[in-house]
Amino acid sequence: MIKLLARIGRFNSVVIITIITALASVVVTTGAVLLLNSNGFDIRFNLAIPLAAFVSIIVAAPIGWILVGLLLRLYRIEKDPGELASYDSLTGLLSRHAFFENANRAISLANRERAAFAVLIIDLDHFKSINDRYGHVAGDAVLRLFADIVNSVARRSDIVGRLGGEEFGMLLPSTDTDKALEFCERLHREVARAVLKYQDSVIRYTVSIGLTSSTRGNLDNIENLLAHADLALYQAKRDGRNRTAVFNYATDQVAAS
Ligand code: GH3
Ligand code: MG
Ligand code: MG
Repeated sequence: MIKLLARIGRFNSVVIITIITALASVVVTTGAVLLLNSNGFDIRFNLAIPLAAFVSIIVAAPIGWILVGLLLRLYRIEKDPGELASYDSLTGLLSRHAFFENANRAISLANRERAAFAVLIIDLDHFKSINDRYGHVAGDAVLRLFADIVNSVARRSDIVGRLGGEEFGMLLPSTDTDKALEFCERLHREVARAVLKYQDSVIRYTVSIGLTSSTRGNLDNIENLLAHADLALYQAKRDGRNRTAVFNYATDQVAAS
């Protein structure tokens, strides 16, 4: 069963579970209305059926999302106990160590196939002041929300890890600089859109991104590329945050976008 869920993926699984739940709810409601109406009640079908479907969708989708996520995580751990340490416990993204391993593997493959790829460092802006203002628990919730947003914007083949604190690394395979910039713009937009409602507050935050692309040279390893992306990140911060800056190998310089 879990194997099947893993094969069809989290999103598709939740859609199927939600549809089955809605259908089951409609069947049960139809039976119940028929029974009650035959006992003198006067319940309108055209009200009861859509309501039953609507309520079951609203309830099944989020619960299904959480349960399927947990089951898939269990499945991965069962398959490879080493995986437990491979994931950051707060965000569920790859741990720093696992990110480096996965990224270097992807880089070797890309260089063998002479394919482009991009590397990003993403850092939440003024994160310390979110902790100071709303507390550490709210800060953790922001980190989790950000991880969800990255996952929703990223492709399945993208590699995402938490490098530490409020800093994240990404490797986008088969992605040139222009496409990577488009990705960054989408990420900035989604971060701005998905505010965190925390107690009575609405927490907004922004991210700065340092971007670099493959050189197709011997220096291509994640440690070097992240060092260059970090220079770009530093520039993005200096230019006012909430933006992406690019490290350009041709000029050996950072260009703000
Ligand atoms: P900048 O825009 O220059 O990046 O400023 P910043 O405040 O984001 O950066 P700074 O390095 O000054 O602060 C990072 C803060 O992140 C400090 C640390 O307490 C907080 N932090 C690190 N890890 C966690 C965590 O797991 N949870 C929470 N809530 N806070 C964390
Ligand atoms: Mg920061
Ligand atoms: Mg930082």
